[in-house]
Amino acid sequence: MPKAKLLLGKVVRAEVYSELQPRITNLKRSGITPGLAVIQVGNDPASQVYVNSKTHRFSKMGLLTETITLPSNTDENNLILTIRKLNKNTKFYGILVQLPLPQHLDSNKILFEIDPEKDVDGFHPVNLGKLVTGHPKFIPCTPKGVLRMLKYYKINLSGKHVVVVGRSNIVGRPLSILTSLKKKYVNATVTICHSGTPNISKFTRQADVLIAAIGVPELIDKSYIKEDVIIIDVGINRVEDDSEKGYKLVGDVNFESVNEIASAITPVPGGVGPMTIAMLVENTIEAAEAAHTNV
Ligand code: NDP
Repeated sequence: MPKAKLLLGKVVRAEVYSELQPRITNLKRSGITPGLAVIQVGNDPASQVYVNSKTHRFSKMGLLTETITLPSNTDENNLILTIRKLNKNTKFYGILVQLPLPQHLDSNKILFEIDPEKDVDGFHPVNLGKLVTGHPKFIPCTPKGVLRMLKYYKINLSGKHVVVVGRSNIVGRPLSILTSLKKKYVNATVTICHSGTPNISKFTRQADVLIAAIGVPELIDKSYIKEDVIIIDVGINRVEDDSEKGYKLVGDVNFESVNEIASAITPVPGGVGPMTIAMLVENTIEAAEAAHTNV
């Protein structure tokens, strides 16, 4: 019998957007239309889908958005010059470089070029440093979205054992830091696992809250969890199937397998996924408000 409560990003996102709308109206009343510049290098189809979703949402919210598409063989200098121009462009309060970049480009070096005040993805070392020291400014969107969902569903992590599987700079590592901060709603005891962790199930079975950010379809099944665990499945993986599209989206967690044991879970799709763009909009509004503190 399935028992896990579904934690739905779609529902939380609606609340986020309705809270942001008056802030947008307020900025516009002062003649400010928050703008986001997206830089896309190459035409990777998955990146294209993500970029389209982002720009679509910005337009829908009455915000300004522009995508700068550069050829896949763009050299480092050209990309850096593009970012520097955008840093100076007062139309854009947020700048985002769509990842992954082609292999010849060093993402760390490129992300370092974004003005930290416009770094709405929160990947600049200055913003990651602020996060580590417990005074975050721009929090990376997916981790921020996860925290927002937990808060919405009144899941207080304080005193809980959170196990994060995955240590990427985009998801796993910021989540492990955020959940361990000495702050309201977090303050958890955190274990982080990765591909170098022998026997990860030994750790995941101890989790009160398990966060999977692995990128391996349905790796986590019932043998990895304990009764009543809360599962946050960040994974979005395409697996081939017989449908018209030829694929379906699955998480890093085998939903059917864990559904009878977990107390709550974010489904894929519809769980964490919708939160990422909502948090990108929020970070861009925050950037615009911070640039006009008198508004
Ligand atoms: P990365 O590939 O950058 O990182 C994956 C992490 O998982 C790494 O730390 C890796 O370890 C670890 N890992 C890989 N295989 C195993 C394994 N078998 N056992 C234990 N650990 C393992 O991925 P991302 O963090 O960018 O993304 C993770 C997932 O989240 C993906 O499915 C992605 O599509 C999804 N995602 C979803 C978003 C959303 O909006 N909901 C946004 C961003 C990502 P190591 O460090 O040793 O390599």
